[in-house]
Amino acid sequence: MKMVKTYACRDVGVDCDWSASSETEEGLMELIAEHAKNVHPEIELTPELVAKVKAAFKDE
Ligand SMILES: [Zn+2]
Repeated sequence: MKMVKTYACRDVGVDCDWSASSETEEGLMELIAEHAKNVHPEIELTPELVAKVKAAFKDE
């Protein structure tokens, strides 16, 4: 059985219904960076925010 990591914008308090999943933390971060760039240009992915985002990853 494969584990996937999932993340949703709501997990860090962003008012957005987007979520994503990937088999790796790196892959998931790439999807999040792309989404943030396109949909949340006002949000800057600071090291602090990235840490918060990674802490919100769930294994499913
Ligand atoms: Zn979002």
